[in-house]
Amino acid sequence: MELSFYPYSLKPVHKLNTTARQGLREGVLLKVKNKTGAIGYADLHPWAEFGDRPWVEQLQDCQSGRISEQLACSLEAAAWDAQLRLQKRHIFEEGLPVENNFLISDLSAVSEEKLKQAWQSGYRVVKLKAGHSAIEEIRMVQILAEMGFQIRLDFNAAGTWSDFQAFMEALPAGVCGAIEYVEDPFPYEWESWNEARRWVRLALDNEVTKVKWDEVLVAAWDVLILKPAKMSVEKAVQRSEKLGTLVAVTSYMDHPLGVMHALGVAMKL
Ligand code: MG
Repeated sequence: MELSFYPYSLKPVHKLNTTARQGLREGVLLKVKNKTGAIGYADLHPWAEFGDRPWVEQLQDCQSGRISEQLACSLEAAAWDAQLRLQKRHIFEEGLPVENNFLISDLSAVSEEKLKQAWQSGYRVVKLKAGHSAIEEIRMVQILAEMGFQIRLDFNAAGTWSDFQAFMEALPAGVCGAIEYVEDPFPYEWESWNEARRWVRLALDNEVTKVKWDEVLVAAWDVLILKPAKMSVEKAVQRSEKLGTLVAVTSYMDHPLGVMHALGVAMKL
């Protein structure tokens, strides 16, 4: 394998979530030439906030034969990319079209007009990054529910069980039914997550790192968030099938190349 790379940085136009640090986001584009000479490209975009090591360290380790789990995912994407290029196939030919959710990561950047436009463009599900201002978020959930949207909330495990309880109990009656699921409501712990499912369905995203897979016989979540950028697609699908949970694929808010690979995975699945 021959690996070359090109560093890049992305400048967020608005707040990405409650956890994201301010400033530029660094990543690296990879070009991988395999034994047969086929070339594939992939992205490597670490989120230090979610425990990923800097790309420089991951590539240094790779030189001495230690491949991080995240880099392994990038190499898998590059291998797939190479295969598609050889066959002269576009990633959109890999599966069926999928629906995306409309994303609200910054409440101040959204207006009712924008939401109407989203509805007109065909969006029926909105994902709201929550955990910042409960009052404003509850108001937004109510607006979205009244407009007919299904809602996905993502707390990034920033709060506690009681913050979540207070949030859910403050929701106006009838609104809960419009919530499709809540991602990482608070730090993962089997009992309390299972308990929280009396209000809504839960989705396991970044808290996945705390799950002891060998010990889990019954899932305390309903949906597994699959980020092909840092999780083996095969493993995630196997685990979901075993536990009878659903899978939602998301990008890593990374370089458009990484976003395309995630979309390709979603279409293929
Ligand atoms: Mg999430």
